[in-house]
Amino acid sequence: MYEDHYIFTPGPVKMSQEIMDIGAVQTPYFRNSEFSSVVFNCEQGLIDIVNAPKGSKVIFLTASGTAGMESVVMNLLNSDDNALVVNGGGFGARFVHICNVHEIPNTNFRVKNTNLSDINTLAPQGEFSALIVNAHETSVGHLYDVTALGHYAQKNNMMHIVDAISMLVTDKLDMQKSNVDVVIASSQKGFALPPGLTMVVLSPNAIQRLQDVKSLYFNFKDYLANGERGQTPYTPAVTIMLQLEERLKQIERRGGISQSIASAKEVSEYFRSSIKDLPLKVTTSFMPNAMTALTPTDGKSALDIVNDLEYQYKVMVCPNGGDEKDTIFRVSHMGDMTKEYTDVLIDALYDYYKVTRS
Ligand SMILES: *Cc1c(COP(=O)(O)O)cnc(C)c1O
Repeated sequence: MYEDHYIFTPGPVKMSQEIMDIGAVQTPYFRNSEFSSVVFNCEQGLIDIVNAPKGSKVIFLTASGTAGMESVVMNLLNSDDNALVVNGGGFGARFVHICNVHEIPNTNFRVKNTNLSDINTLAPQGEFSALIVNAHETSVGHLYDVTALGHYAQKNNMMHIVDAISMLVTDKLDMQKSNVDVVIASSQKGFALPPGLTMVVLSPNAIQRLQDVKSLYFNFKDYLANGERGQTPYTPAVTIMLQLEERLKQIERRGGISQSIASAKEVSEYFRSSIKDLPLKVTTSFMPNAMTALTPTDGKSALDIVNDLEYQYKVMVCPNGGDEKDTIFRVSHMGDMTKEYTDVLIDALYDYYKVTRS
């Protein structure tokens, strides 16, 4: 549909040719040792990327990222908990919603203009058993200080659940350093794969706290039992897992996860410095490498800009929803990004504003 377009949307993101090629061939049978080794490779690769503690396990769900969020709440929290949920936008609000649906007592911790480095003074008073955060609140392009959150969680004996879906591969996450018990990842953001595969990394502490759930498909204990032999209880997203295995190798070939993060940092900083002469300002000062959220300063509608970029230049960026549709649009730096590719967007913006790029 958009094959000839330039992709700067925050999921699905720009994919590399070698990953797309894997999607073009026959899906193999998977109940055998060949596929088990793919699952084990994917598990080990993910554990390495987030520096998970020894004994951590990965759950592979055939679903979008929200299923990862919901299933974590279902498998790790119950009515005796009181979850402190960081809510700085649409995805934080989704966690509050999920807790409410599953009748998990929760405190809606609304935040704005802070990366929570000073969580100790900002957090509401109360007895909390868990801290839930979307490390990168994708709706506004805002990155939290997960290490500060981890210290706070540790000090207060709280389980630390991190939705890292839109910052893995582009921004650093270290489960051990940041005292994280659960990480939720998804295929279609920084991993630059098709949507449909969600991964949950469970630390030994989280594994110990798994409970019996009233769900067949989202029963983590069942996934762990099958995972012992490199399998999943139900048909996995076979092709996406083959693509994930290759993607993990690709990250290694390109110099490892730290190099992928450094590269995303370079591209995002290049983009931000290149558009300084345009009537656009960044929406937050706490930006991830994964994304830049922009606000027009000349009164132009953000949504009009998004549509004009698509129809006039074949460049896809992402509008914000609701009452932010005219004030904010977002540019993703996730996926198979380079400065040269980003130049297409930068040049389009200069042409659109009729400003000469210096
Ligand atoms: C994209 C995203 C999700 C998952 O959304 P799905 O549409 O269910 O894949 C969850 N959390 C964050 C922070 C995201 O950016």
